[in-house]
Amino acid sequence: MSQVKLTLALSKGRIFEETLPLLRAAGIEVLEDPEKSRKLILPTNRPDVQVVLVRASDVPTYVQYGGADLGVCGKDTLIEHEAEWGGAGSVGLYQPLDLKIAKCRMSVAVRADFDYASAVRQGARLKVATKYVAIAREFFASKGVHVDLIKLYGSMELAPLTGMADAIVDLVSTGNTLKANHLVEVEPIMDISSRLVVNPTALKVKRELLRPILDAFARATA
Ligand code: AMP
Repeated sequence: MSQVKLTLALSKGRIFEETLPLLRAAGIEVLEDPEKSRKLILPTNRPDVQVVLVRASDVPTYVQYGGADLGVCGKDTLIEHEAEWGGAGSVGLYQPLDLKIAKCRMSVAVRADFDYASAVRQGARLKVATKYVAIAREFFASKGVHVDLIKLYGSMELAPLTGMADAIVDLVSTGNTLKANHLVEVEPIMDISSRLVVNPTALKVKRELLRPILDAFARATA
């Protein structure tokens, strides 16, 4: 019979890489490299702990439904997930820690030749393409700017370049992606970092297993 008692949901890439040192601080080593393996379930040095690899936007869903006991995902992903479920606090995911990893910012960007400030000043109705519709809607509403939101699933930079949108709302880290596509960042919306999320039932039922890991993560990110 399987000895696994605790399942951690992570997405490949930056979140996976930057969570590894935190896991190490909790005495957990992931035994396979997701870039070299096609496996979706990765064993660790602890027979009772496994890692499942899911899409970033699926991490809150896995933790909410108990497919994983805990997970790591960006604040952006959490806000969008909660909005789908009726707003902040509605999902009931326990969010004990800002892990301060995978840091970046959510920003508005436009084509270099688009005068965003003047469009906003004149009360123009802006076409905004984004994957992050809840964040964009809330941001422009709080500024009193009227927008038509166009939902995209990726490559948002293309929307202003093809004339489909005036602006995009996207994550910016180094700014290289925007620069390569002749876009400029015109307004920051919020700082983003990754959060630890825990299934509330798991927190009660698997407290002895979870507590030392949460404590080690807290110490490592302090
Ligand atoms: P950069 O070129 O470094 O500004 O990175 C921007 C691109 O990477 C955009 O396509 C973003 O969607 C993506 N990106 C940057 N940082 C993150 C992050 N922390 N989490 C997820 N995607 C990110």
